[in-house]
Amino acid sequence: MIQGRIVKGIGGLYFVDTNSRVIECSIRGIFRKNKITPTVGDYVKISLLEDNKGIIEEILERKNILIRPRVSNIDCAIITFSIISPSINIDLLDRFLILAESQNIENILICINKCDLASQEDINNIKSLYGNIYPIVFTSTLKNIGIQDLKNLMDKKVTVFAGPSGVGKSSLINAMLPNASLRTGDISKKVERGKHTTRQVELLEAWEHTYIVDSPGFTSLSIDFLENSIDVYFKEFRQFLGNCKFYDCKHIHEPSCVIKEQV
Ligand code: GDP
Ligand code: ZN
Repeated sequence: MIQGRIVKGIGGLYFVDTNSRVIECSIRGIFRKNKITPTVGDYVKISLLEDNKGIIEEILERKNILIRPRVSNIDCAIITFSIISPSINIDLLDRFLILAESQNIENILICINKCDLASQEDINNIKSLYGNIYPIVFTSTLKNIGIQDLKNLMDKKVTVFAGPSGVGKSSLINAMLPNASLRTGDISKKVERGKHTTRQVELLEAWEHTYIVDSPGFTSLSIDFLENSIDVYFKEFRQFLGNCKFYDCKHIHEPSCVIKEQV
């Protein structure tokens, strides 16, 4: 059997990238029977059929899975905001960070785009808020700033860009992959396309062993599905958790709260 990774799925067919080529695969009926759905990003074992096609025999264990877009085994999440127009919504940024942390994504970084429109003071403010906690890249697709840094951080990984619309995610992807020009920067066009066709999730091969999740769906999100305590998802809290006086401390107005002392 050959091992590969599902990079695209369309109507029950899966395209599996093996070391040598991308193979169109169907799945064994047993998957359907057991209600197992192969997912873009899955590592799979396939056997080859005579017509150069394949059949998926086994799905290897997933290290993580996102629901919208449905994609598995993400290595890197780039939480993208623009410094202005639209300006950064810190609450939303925190939500994206929490979501990424809760999904077991190893590499989480913050990308602040449109820094051509920012003052040094704006940039320093963001740096002082998050710089000790997450890697931050300041980019401008207009002035070609930070693009190479972003590429270096994504190398050999499967990366999902998350962030509100209008911050420049498509522009960043296009700046990194000039030949792909996968999406226009025109939001109204995107909305229209979303209405008329159902877009499939796809792993876009950026360069060797490096993929970008091509999906417009990861823009707004809710963290309601998370369990009651989200404190474990605040990376900067972790080393202090468990040291508060009350074991179920909400770190809001409880006495002897270590998190509050550390603020
Ligand atoms: P998305 O919705 O996050 O994919 O954002 P788009 O890539 O569609 O970009 C939204 C708008 O921001 C477009 O009009 C872009 O031309 C503009 N834009 C993207 N990157 C930059 C940048 O670095 N600087 C400035 N000033 N505008 C940008
Ligand atoms: Zn506390």
